[in-house]
Amino acid sequence: MYELRDYRLTQLYRAAAKELVGSIGEITVLPTELRDALTARGAALSSIEPVAIERSRDGCTTKGLFRLHDGKEVEAVLMEHRGNRSTICISSQAGCAFACAFCATGQAGYSRNLGAIEIFDQAVYFARALASCGKRVTNVVFMGMGEPFHNYDAVMDAVALLNDPQGFGLGHRHITISTVGLVDKIDRFAEEGIQVNLAISLHAPNDALRSSFMPVNRKYPIAELMTACERYVRRTHRKVFFEYVMLAGVNDSDECARELAALMRGHLYHVNLIPYNATPDANFTGTDQESIWQFAAILDAARVPVTVRRNMGRDIAAACGQLRAETQPKARAGGFTGRSLAQ
Ligand code: SAH
Repeated sequence: MYELRDYRLTQLYRAAAKELVGSIGEITVLPTELRDALTARGAALSSIEPVAIERSRDGCTTKGLFRLHDGKEVEAVLMEHRGNRSTICISSQAGCAFACAFCATGQAGYSRNLGAIEIFDQAVYFARALASCGKRVTNVVFMGMGEPFHNYDAVMDAVALLNDPQGFGLGHRHITISTVGLVDKIDRFAEEGIQVNLAISLHAPNDALRSSFMPVNRKYPIAELMTACERYVRRTHRKVFFEYVMLAGVNDSDECARELAALMRGHLYHVNLIPYNATPDANFTGTDQESIWQFAAILDAARVPVTVRRNMGRDIAAACGQLRAETQPKARAGGFTGRSLAQ
């Protein structure tokens, strides 16, 4: 491999991360001979190779399947919302070790951690695609395959790359990390001193139920998890988001809503109710839309801030792995509105 001077590396980095150039041949600040030599040696600007890109019928959701250097594959999803907002949902691991029963990735098992660059390059890929039509990435969420806090250091390095003002330049507040609830890492994250959003995959309001489909709950039961979240809020003064995937007949009863409200009430917390995306081999079905709104209404009446997420990309199985929609209408037409539905 070529020995490159620091300023050349900086030029390459800027071209890839900031200018979102697609190939070394297009980096015009580099001499042609250098471009040719690098290309001839197989150098590439991206560590991941797209192997399948699918767009939903409405054109708003694009799913990418990417191959890593060792042949492992991960998915990322781009969601283009109204008003020029675009969210990229990225993977932090190939597979996942936490085996949540309703989740396709969890059922498939763990393969390996991604490196920071492999994580970052998923965002760069879609940012480049957006740039070609004059749009940009406004949000990145770590809600693809894997458990971000199980690959903590690489995820923090990827966050730094996403945030770098000399590079990708995405503000911390536009990044969200979603965790299955690793208490020790929540404490560590609270000490980072960054404005990145924290989301907790709660999905059940009591230990018996949560343990029945989320094995991690046996290690970190709800009381410990909630105490860690309280510590996080005290330390950071930042809101915590709780994700609650709506599973018909499992966690969607009025009683569950009341229990959840009791856990949430009086804290700087926000609940996101997520319609379940059916996956091929899971024994779960999603709660119907009407019942989801009923569940939301109970939280709302208890003055718990709640949002119901909209589903995107069902027709392209944006749910395979854990990939699913992440857009949040503020309120439904004719439904309840107001304080608690605002983000
Ligand atoms: N491991 C992390 C992040 C990845 S999953 C976590 O657990 O938070 C991102 C979110 O998608 C989690 O809330 C997860 O529970 C949810 N999810 C997984 N499979 C889903 C499905 N089929 N439909 C809807 N949400 C799903």
